[in-house]
Amino acid sequence: MKLKRNLLLGLLCLSVLCCSACSNGSQQKNEEIINPTQPTVTGDIAGGTHQVSVTPTGKYITQQKKSNYKIVISKTAGTTVQTAAADLAEFIKRASGVKLPIIKDDNLKHSADNEYLCVGKNSLSDDAGIEYNYDLLGYNGLKITTKDKSVYMGGYDENGSSNAVYEFLSHAIGFEAYGKDYIDYQTNIDIELYDFDITEVPDFQWRRSSSGSINTNRVDARRMRFNPDGEIFVMIDGLDCHNTFKYIPPETYKSDHPEWFSNDGEQLCYTAHGDEKSLEEMINVAFEKAKAEIIAQPHAELISFTQQDANTWCQCETCAAERAKYGTDAAVMIKFVNRLDDKIQAWIKDNNDGVPADRSVKTSIFAYQRTEKPPVKEETDASGNIVYVPVDESVVLNDTVHIMIAPLSADYINPLNVGQNNTYLDMFDGWSALSSQIYMWIYQANYKNYLYPYNSFNSMSVNYKLLKDKGNVYYIFNQGQYGQPRSTGFNELKIYLDSKMQWNVNVNMQTLIEKYFAFCYGDAAAEMTNYFNSMRTWLDYIHSEEHLNLGKGVYEEINRSTYFPKNVLDGWLDTIERALVAIKPYENENYEYYTELYDRITVESIFPRYALLTLYSGYFSDSELRQLRTEFAFDARRLGFEQYQENGPLTDVYTSWDI
Ligand SMILES: [Zn+2]
Repeated sequence: MKLKRNLLLGLLCLSVLCCSACSNGSQQKNEEIINPTQPTVTGDIAGGTHQVSVTPTGKYITQQKKSNYKIVISKTAGTTVQTAAADLAEFIKRASGVKLPIIKDDNLKHSADNEYLCVGKNSLSDDAGIEYNYDLLGYNGLKITTKDKSVYMGGYDENGSSNAVYEFLSHAIGFEAYGKDYIDYQTNIDIELYDFDITEVPDFQWRRSSSGSINTNRVDARRMRFNPDGEIFVMIDGLDCHNTFKYIPPETYKSDHPEWFSNDGEQLCYTAHGDEKSLEEMINVAFEKAKAEIIAQPHAELISFTQQDANTWCQCETCAAERAKYGTDAAVMIKFVNRLDDKIQAWIKDNNDGVPADRSVKTSIFAYQRTEKPPVKEETDASGNIVYVPVDESVVLNDTVHIMIAPLSADYINPLNVGQNNTYLDMFDGWSALSSQIYMWIYQANYKNYLYPYNSFNSMSVNYKLLKDKGNVYYIFNQGQYGQPRSTGFNELKIYLDSKMQWNVNVNMQTLIEKYFAFCYGDAAAEMTNYFNSMRTWLDYIHSEEHLNLGKGVYEEINRSTYFPKNVLDGWLDTIERALVAIKPYENENYEYYTELYDRITVESIFPRYALLTLYSGYFSDSELRQLRTEFAFDARRLGFEQYQENGPLTDVYTSWDI
């Protein structure tokens, strides 16, 4: 990456950009014009399960590249446990030089002399009396126990067992996954045997990976303890949402049962136009589909029955009467899905078709477009507070049916309890009167401008704490640049922060940021921290109502020269150039390490370079511009950037640049 620029250094100190380089006087002035969001949730949030006790035993798992330990998994282990065990062996080898064998649990018994690292529930863990309880751990919680010389790491489900492996590695070898291919661990060590007594349950039970650099590879996601795409929900013909037509395909059923569909054909009719006998038959069709998929996907707890992605609803007489009665189209959907869920739960309880009677299956529906508004009314409680209550008992969701709320129009630069965002917290509270658990789908990118930053750093920690404090959020998806294999604007840092804060909302975000910069940028950490802080400060400035007043939603037209003067972009690129100079000595000393650092720094150059080359093309000669754009495209391609906006291929930009 080489950029030839006209530097306007003299102007730089007029901007908030260069706080650290300016005199104290101008620093104070700069701070005055910054309007950082004040977190309103402070201190630790109670209610999580994070019991960690790790004490030395004086014994070793590996010593001087030797070990008698074996990794044990069940002979019926699924892919998740097999993968976790393989990764356990791999990282123990990288840290200690010893490759431990992976064996099956056939006829294995616990004894004081045996040396096992046991992954997941199997006959060995049963013999040792280790229990992994759903009520305590759910599908993703983990338990690690040392008994004699063996370590048992597992969960009720394979998701929890996988998490247990990475928790074990974090203590044993300092394993920390900062992102795709950004993994820290100790090397050339003897691995100590600790006396483990750990029970960890994530603050949000299901945590979906948010961005393309992680969700394209299930191992990368697992290492960060995210639930990989496609493994959280029972997929209905491959769809985890907007899937009602997969349960009840119009092409199969519409000719015989036109009453099952809205008159415009875009949605189901959830009342079968008022024909009770037909409605029962319709629910049975959905039930048969659900059964087949639940059997086929044994490690998914959640299943969704969610409307088609069209902002319409059935207008038949019966549906219209329900809408008038409840003030929302959500009522007919709730009643339909409660009946579907009754059938699913009864079927599981009877242990039919080989599905274990204790399997937990939870069905979700969408608060989305026509069903966003909950069927509740306001009442004043004894203390004079306004509370939400169901319009009637028939619209209370079953205990095993939950709502998924996706406030796409909220402002994620501020926390959810600030300003207009309170509307969404009201919606949350309304649905909480009907649904015992809430699934949250929130956002953290500018979907019109993927190559620009979105300053949700101000809201992340507070939002996670707020939602944990509500006590009923069971699933979280903080959507980033979902289909983008690599992203700029420190989006890769957000993935790391998500992985840690969704697991435990009480971790200190600033500490995580410092760890991330130290590991990911090495000797360039100070310069990259300067750039990061400067970028956040500038974003606060352009979003501030007293200054440039750019909107705070996820579709803002941030790609304007008004918001990014050329000297600001130039200044950031100077900082990045200094970061590259700082790592230069490694080019000869350790070329592999150098290229890792170089690439991570270059990822963060993509935003200011793109802005410069699109907003200020007139500042360059034709040949300069062509060269800079060609270099940009070269870096963007090799680093994995594919989109300039959601579903907007970067190749369109290259074509418009004629390169
Ligand atoms: Zn209808």
